[in-house]
Amino acid sequence: MAPGPVEQTEKEQTETVPPKKLPKGVVLGPDGKPCRTCTDVASWFAMTKGASKSKPTAPPVLPSDCPPDVETLGRSSWTLLHSITAQYPENPSPTLQSETRTFMNIFGKLYPCWFCAKDFQEWMKKDGNAPRVSSREEFGRWMCEAHNAVNVKLGKKPFDCDKWEERWRTGWKDGRCD
Ligand SMILES: Cc1cc2nc3c(=O)[nH]c(=O)nc-3n(C[C@H](O)[C@H](O)[C@H](O)COP(=O)(O)OP(=O)(O)OC[C@H]3O[C@@H](n4cnc5c(N)ncnc54)[C@H](O)[C@@H]3O)c2cc1C
Repeated sequence: MAPGPVEQTEKEQTETVPPKKLPKGVVLGPDGKPCRTCTDVASWFAMTKGASKSKPTAPPVLPSDCPPDVETLGRSSWTLLHSITAQYPENPSPTLQSETRTFMNIFGKLYPCWFCAKDFQEWMKKDGNAPRVSSREEFGRWMCEAHNAVNVKLGKKPFDCDKWEERWRTGWKDGRCD
């Protein structure tokens, strides 16, 4: 879900000249310029190529060697995060648990879509939502819940967290991943 434009500092306002009219869905970054990793590819193409006058036939697809849009970035990031939980030890040392909490907090700060990062950090600060990392099972479920919070925000169906390990570690019981 894309927010409205962010407020700019006086200096930034004098230094940047945003396009006259931005298509719906294009999100500005803190520098006042359109933020690619905060914007979906359809809105990005509407801005860079102009809205097509003919009826759209298929949704636009970003070539695989272009900087990611908000969705490609999200899919890749979730793949990394869930894969980390899948390889996490069943009995992690106190040091690793502490490092993992730190990693999630820094990840939340550095995530390259600013409004996603802001919401994710706020979600982690709510009661009961701080990273739970005392075992693989606990961390895997926590990550599933974190992902579901974003799914719900975006109006998507939540994922069944009983299945997180089949999706990200063992492969499905029907054998289609083997
Ligand atoms: C921290 C973070 C915050 C984000 N915030 C925003 C935001 O504010 N606005 C925005 O537009 N996008 C946001 N995104 C991106 C968004 O979550 C999706 O990645 C993106 O919309 C692409 O969605 P998708 O439907 O392809 O599948 P994704 O949501 O990327 O999921 C990839 C795959 O993971 C599996 N999966 C789905 N849910 C779960 C779950 N709960 N647990 C385990 N596996 C699951 C499914 O097999 C799915 O196909 C965020 C991403 C991250 C990493």
